[in-house]
Amino acid sequence: MTGECSCGKVKYHLNGDIVTMYCCHCSKCRKSSGSSFSTLAIARLKDFHLSDGEACLTSTGRDDFRQYYCKHCHAWIYGVSVKSGLGVLLPCGTFSEDPSKKIEFHKYYESRASWVDINDELPKYAEDHNSPALLQMLAES
Ligand SMILES: [Zn+2]
Ligand SMILES: [Zn+2]
Repeated sequence: MTGECSCGKVKYHLNGDIVTMYCCHCSKCRKSSGSSFSTLAIARLKDFHLSDGEACLTSTGRDDFRQYYCKHCHAWIYGVSVKSGLGVLLPCGTFSEDPSKKIEFHKYYESRASWVDINDELPKYAEDHNSPALLQMLAES
């Protein structure tokens, strides 16, 4: 599976499967994406490789989380948790191919934008939620 930023200068590929995919409705996701919510994927960091544009990256940190952006188009491409170091967080909009996975749940649903209601059948967690697959990945360390 491959992905890239909006100008195409930064590209990555993923050698393994995505662990989980979800929508996050928290206010940080809303503000940082400029959209009503984020669609995010978690994969194993060891499966993630930049294939182009490493020199175009810049990053910001908040708490133990570091987020990487393209210097040219300012799109964010991936994020890593400094503490666990196991997972990589990918904004699904960067995907260039079908990830062979669908969104599995909504989290921080109680914090969603007032103009958004989601009418799918997926679980909607009021606050944070970690999927069983993610917890298993963390335990595998
Ligand atoms: Zn770019
Ligand atoms: Zn969020």
